[in-house]
Amino acid sequence: MQAKILLSTPHLSGFEQHYIDQALTSNWVTTLGPNVTAFEKALAQYDDATSALATSSGTAAIHLALLTLGVRPGDHVFCSSFTFVASANPIRYIGAHATLIDAEPDSWNMSPQALARALAAAEKEGTLPKAIIVVDLFGQTANYHALTALAAAYQVPIIEDAAESLGAVYCGRKAGTLGTLGVHSFNGNKMITTSGGGALITDNPDIREQALFLATQAKEPRAYYHHEVTGYNYRMSNVAAGIGRGQLHVLDQRVERRRTIFNTYATQLQALPGVHFQPELPNSQGSRWLTALTLDHHDPWQIMAALQKVGIETRALWQPLHQQPLFRNVPFYPHAPGQDVSTALFKTGLCLPSGSNLTDVQQQMVINTLRRLLKGDEVR
Ligand SMILES: *Cc1c(COP(=O)(O)O)cnc(C)c1O
Repeated sequence: MQAKILLSTPHLSGFEQHYIDQALTSNWVTTLGPNVTAFEKALAQYDDATSALATSSGTAAIHLALLTLGVRPGDHVFCSSFTFVASANPIRYIGAHATLIDAEPDSWNMSPQALARALAAAEKEGTLPKAIIVVDLFGQTANYHALTALAAAYQVPIIEDAAESLGAVYCGRKAGTLGTLGVHSFNGNKMITTSGGGALITDNPDIREQALFLATQAKEPRAYYHHEVTGYNYRMSNVAAGIGRGQLHVLDQRVERRRTIFNTYATQLQALPGVHFQPELPNSQGSRWLTALTLDHHDPWQIMAALQKVGIETRALWQPLHQQPLFRNVPFYPHAPGQDVSTALFKTGLCLPSGSNLTDVQQQMVINTLRRLLKGDEVR
């Protein structure tokens, strides 16, 4: 059997070793040091943002975002339903109440129509959310023009979950800076990696300072250990940040490669009947973290199983959170009454191998196999 073709794996640049060596030889190996500071500066520069705070994970950064926006137990928070569970788990950490918002067909991201109905209903009930977590699914930015106008009308801040969309652009602005606060992930399968980590992006120095305080055990500035609120151990290590510095050198190349991979899939497969790729909003360029598509005439689960058999790893689209037992009884607003867009996408979609280190030969194997499967041929 041929080598496995994987969905998305770490893709090192060769620049990482230098920064890791610096960390080791200077004994800056913990959650403080020149790599952390330089990584934050370079990341903020890349995003054209004022500041970044490097964290131990993207999930930790979402948690810090909620905390710094003042979300407390019993508060309400809206979140995209069509996403990975980590987008919403921090709402639970705090003991706040989630409301899940469906996707729209145009971007597969938060439906402005559904958000409008949810905000109107919450205002009536006196349960307006403290924050709205908007996810850029598979690297495509959401419709921030419409979402931001709605959020502003009700004076609710947006947290942009840009875990998958580092390097994406919307109306000339980088993903991560499209809400009040932004979050990136540097998990091993994301656009770039730090071996595991995340970042909080903000233009507000007070928010950054408060997030840093909470991320470092909330130690009050005294000569001894004095604590007034619960803190967390959420900082990125100087070794991990060294990997991140090396990865930032090639981020634009990584985005370009993933977009090329998407375009090759789309060019060679979109003419097949019933095949639809995730759309890109006008005035935006997604990171194309994962190439995602839906099939009208095939069961995606059978296609995924057949590809697995020949060593090609694919993945289902995220199962919407409102379909998860974990979020049973949580309010959900569909795109339109009776039209649940995210569940329909989940039932018909799949993600193809999309890593920036996927070779042209490997991609052609995926395309050829998929073509044969979609034409009904047996594949072995
Ligand atoms: C990966 C991911 C996260 C979590 O990031 P970690 O660094 O793994 O904690 C959050 N939201 C989305 C949409 C993700 O894809």
